[in-house]
Amino acid sequence: MENYMLAVYDVSNPCNYRCNYCRNDWSTESNIKHSELKDIKKIIDKIVERGFKTISYTGGEFFLIPFWKDILMYASEKGLSNQVITNASLIEEKDIEFLERHLKRISVSFHSADKKQYNKIMGITDSGLFNKVLKNLKLIGESCMDLGIFFSPLWENYMSFFQTIKILKDKGIQITDVNLNRILPVGKAEGFLKKPLGYFEHALLIQQLVQINNELGINAYGEAYPLCFLNNVIENEEIIEKVNRSCIIGRKALALDSNGNIKLCPCAEKRVGASILDTAEVLDKNKCIEEFTEGRWRSEYCKNCSYWENCLGGCHASRGEMFSDDSLILDDEVVFKEGINNEFFDLLIDLYRPFLGNSFKKVPTAYTIFSKHKYKHPIGIIAIKNTKTNANFIEISLIPQLRGGYYSFIVLRKLFLLHPELKKIGWTSHKANIPSMKVLKKLRGGFFEKTVTNKNRIEAEGFFKVDGQAVYSMQKALDKQIELSAPMYNGWLEGYKTRTEELEKLTTYLEEYNEGN
Ligand code: SF4
Ligand code: SF4
Repeated sequence: MENYMLAVYDVSNPCNYRCNYCRNDWSTESNIKHSELKDIKKIIDKIVERGFKTISYTGGEFFLIPFWKDILMYASEKGLSNQVITNASLIEEKDIEFLERHLKRISVSFHSADKKQYNKIMGITDSGLFNKVLKNLKLIGESCMDLGIFFSPLWENYMSFFQTIKILKDKGIQITDVNLNRILPVGKAEGFLKKPLGYFEHALLIQQLVQINNELGINAYGEAYPLCFLNNVIENEEIIEKVNRSCIIGRKALALDSNGNIKLCPCAEKRVGASILDTAEVLDKNKCIEEFTEGRWRSEYCKNCSYWENCLGGCHASRGEMFSDDSLILDDEVVFKEGINNEFFDLLIDLYRPFLGNSFKKVPTAYTIFSKHKYKHPIGIIAIKNTKTNANFIEISLIPQLRGGYYSFIVLRKLFLLHPELKKIGWTSHKANIPSMKVLKKLRGGFFEKTVTNKNRIEAEGFFKVDGQAVYSMQKALDKQIELSAPMYNGWLEGYKTRTEELEKLTTYLEEYNEGN
């Protein structure tokens, strides 16, 4: 146990908030009843005995504990350094002096600078709390304690990460650092996070993280993101090094639940089958801790990865289960080869008609896409049509075997790196290609509503800028087109499901390709 420095301790579970992503089940008695001071002291004694230097108190809401001052005083007397993770709604101005004497750092969960959205995410109705939190952030920032902001991205706030931190800075709040913490689908949060944020959304978050560092001059970190993902989103290696914070749980830190049971991750449910109250021999022999610290759970792809030491596989619980691969691992790369084989193109056209057009067959810039690690056969095509204006139209088609994968994300990243001149990509909606429109939405593009006046069909056209964002009215127009296109798209989907012959032909082509290469 001598390597462990930090104990992340769910000291007591009750909370005055009801965050919509929270893992705690508020119908469970242990979550609404405070731990007792005598039990907390026993756990603190063991934390000291096992050689930890710092406690980070989580929960529950720390400042809801009636005797929180006793806890901090006790741990300080024992020589421990204290840190608290809090929603900061219960701190009073008169407490600051005491806190300065007993705390090194306060990390505040703060996910929106918009009061209405804040209340919704945090599950509260008391309209005074938001302003009180802002006031407390200011007080903490001005004190000698470090102020960390924990931002957890959700569907409703992931696009306003930068803006949230900027607003705090503009209000004169002195932030020491910002942590971007992914929410794990565990406990009660599992239902809420049925559809977690994906590659495109996290790429946007990382771009905002870099912006916070560069434009606001605040140190901002991405907590346990896989380096293979960061490498795809950030080009500058120095910046990657700066924003990357690999997970120290299981190496330098251990997490404890409110009863002292050891968890490998503060956010995941899994216990290791041992308690901090057990003897040192029992803890040293614990198979689960051993397996984790020695990295035996390392996935096949991570095993051969040269980034392992700095990455440690990203988050070990991002799918909710411990010992699982990070949900953002990019375990493949794509290679573009110039030109498209006509037979392959025709097979895709047959399968995906009317989305894929013959007109793209003759364009000057066209590539066949290959996977670097997983498939021998081609996995798709890209054709770029130059229009007379400075916008380009692109046709991208991937084989259906890649369903649900992340290839559209890495293909687009690669395309924009390879063709920096592609500043503006045009789209139309007349074919009701909803999957493409959804990608356009993820790329923060949008539609102009009234530029196409053909009255016989639903139509709009728009674009996305590689380094920009569509205005709000264009994003709204895109949403409207997605809605209007649904019946036509569903009709196509029905037809597509019956194209077994076309699918078989494509599969045979790919199999024969594998045999011949
Ligand atoms: S996430 Fe934290 S602040 Fe929010 S309800 Fe759960 S314990 Fe309370
Ligand atoms: S160690 Fe695993 S998660 Fe990290 S960069 Fe390598 S493959 Fe990706």
